[in-house]
Amino acid sequence: MTTPSSSSADSSRSQGPLSAGDLKLGTLAVHAGEARQKPGDSITDPVFCASTFTFADTQAVIDYIEQEQPREEYGRYGNPGERVAERKLAALENAEDAVLYGSGMAAIVGLLMAKLNAGDEVIFFDECYHRSREFCGKHLSRFGVTTRQVKTGDYDAMEAAITPATKMLISESPTNPHLSCIDLEKFVDIGQRHGVETLIDATLATPYNLRPIDAGVDYVLHSATKYLGGHNDLLAGVVVGGKEALEPVRNLRGIMGAINGPQNVYLLLRGLKTFELRMQRHNDNGMLVAEFLENHPRVERVYYPGLASHPYHEIARKTMRGYGGLVTFLLKDADWRATADVIDAAKIPRIAPSLGGVESLIEQPMVMSYYKLTPEERQTFGIPDNMIRMACGIEDGEDLVADLSQALDR
Ligand SMILES: *Cc1c(COP(=O)(O)O)cnc(C)c1O
Repeated sequence: MTTPSSSSADSSRSQGPLSAGDLKLGTLAVHAGEARQKPGDSITDPVFCASTFTFADTQAVIDYIEQEQPREEYGRYGNPGERVAERKLAALENAEDAVLYGSGMAAIVGLLMAKLNAGDEVIFFDECYHRSREFCGKHLSRFGVTTRQVKTGDYDAMEAAITPATKMLISESPTNPHLSCIDLEKFVDIGQRHGVETLIDATLATPYNLRPIDAGVDYVLHSATKYLGGHNDLLAGVVVGGKEALEPVRNLRGIMGAINGPQNVYLLLRGLKTFELRMQRHNDNGMLVAEFLENHPRVERVYYPGLASHPYHEIARKTMRGYGGLVTFLLKDADWRATADVIDAAKIPRIAPSLGGVESLIEQPMVMSYYKLTPEERQTFGIPDNMIRMACGIEDGEDLVADLSQALDR
């Protein structure tokens, strides 16, 4: 944690800085990364609406450049609130450093652009956020980077796909929307034996449910738009990892300009205060809804890592503290329209893409994200017409179950 920034805190009787070392997640979410005594003696971090930051005189500019002092210079390179959020997110992940972006996709693009060169290869587990796949397949390829996809959870195939040009192994855990879970021990072991860096997009798990850095993963990525912000009111993204490894990533972000405005950062910091409480409710609601659906006669199959019937349940049990709010399920003998009718009959969850906010959201992946694809393409991505994805918010779980029940019983 940083030293107090206000002179009123210099007295020997003032409260000392908190040391993050032995604090638990709920305390870190509230306090980590923040100065104890803030400008204006405010308990919250102020929103500095500044695109640039001033120097007292020319010598101050020269001192800043020569001594590489930690202070602000120009808004594209960062702002005070953003640094607080980065320290807080690094503390939540037990990582050395974090680089914050204006969205999760900006974070993925920023990391890969900083780390890869023409001729390099990356290997993906194939169940992944469709825009990540699109970025690698359509855009990184234009810069001479080859993407190989292997079946999710096939560690032998991933290892076999490694060549001397392979620079990064990439996966989500859990994946979206199938909620497959990665055995981090195996994943990290492959990377380390071959000297290849590893990246886990842990957006669906969050640091409450999954600890990839502790498992030895090099980079963890989050769309902070989801659980970290948590209120369906902002976009942000973050890459966490080692300080030295993230230095070129931070430098490229300063060129890309994929940064957050001060107000957006304030919303993120505000959302993070309740992170632990929200995750507990998301986990409870996810489990309750998944168990309800599994026992419903109109439901063919439920994908939820907390269910013993989930193919990845053993890995999830081994690696996760809870299983999150996202529940995917298939309806029995339902075409796309009958599936849409269930969604339209639900009264509490709103129809929208995204997940991880306080409001529950519901959608049909075939319509929401894969509508323009051919049935064959949808099949290769494992998106049948009768699939529903429910992102449980923090409403009362029994209300969510009762609402789904009336929608299914129509
Ligand atoms: C939403 C999401 C992203 C993209 O994040 P944005 O903040 O929307 O840019 C990446 N990965 C996963 C798993 C996501 O759910």
